[in-house]
Amino acid sequence: MAGAIPKALILFGPPGSGKGTQAKLLRSSLAIPHISTGDMLRERIASGDSLGLEVKNLMQSGRLVPDEVVNRLVDDRVSQPDCSSGFILDGYPRTLQQAKVLDGTLEGRGYHPVVIHLKVDYTKIIRRIAGRRQCPVCGTLYSLTSNPPRQADTCDRDGASLVIRDDDRESVIRERLEAYERQTRPVLEYFAASGQAVHEVDGSEGSPDEILARIRGVLS
Ligand code: AMP
Repeated sequence: MAGAIPKALILFGPPGSGKGTQAKLLRSSLAIPHISTGDMLRERIASGDSLGLEVKNLMQSGRLVPDEVVNRLVDDRVSQPDCSSGFILDGYPRTLQQAKVLDGTLEGRGYHPVVIHLKVDYTKIIRRIAGRRQCPVCGTLYSLTSNPPRQADTCDRDGASLVIRDDDRESVIRERLEAYERQTRPVLEYFAASGQAVHEVDGSEGSPDEILARIRGVLS
């Protein structure tokens, strides 16, 4: 993304609002990295390292992992050279403390934050997450309703059998939505109080490409 001040696009919204899908589409169209704290944590769990072991139970029960853990992951990631023209944050910040740390990080490194709030109602979210499937090999996400694989339960890219993410099970979804209400939604007020514009985008209606067009409209 060209321009004097690189942008940090913050995709904000409840789990299941389509942040991950939109972040991937934006990555392709803007050619800047997509930083998903959820993906980074899942990679650490898959690798079985000590951090992965530390966060596994929390994630699988739908609770947030400690701020220090994600703050460190994000700080390390945005200091990589490929982030110099800007980047997309998906799933971070999720608490007030993370938002404050991010402010310092962005200011210190000279990025301009742009917050996109994807709004979707909860009934739709529960339906959406319950129909979500993921390839355990390449990570591609499918939706049984809006983006099904060509062959049932099979990844289009590598033929692996699709799985339901542990934290996409119904009881866990409710816990994740509660965590959002309790810990994450207040971050919106923090953005407003600190003078950062929050761009509201309707994430309920339309195809992923139509929602992308709304986001691009906000950015231009
Ligand atoms: P996501 O894929 O973004 O929905 O994240 C999946 C899970 O990873 C969340 O339910 C949390 O347990 C954990 N997680 C991801 N990002 C964060 C974050 N910024 N702060 C705390 N926990 C996080």
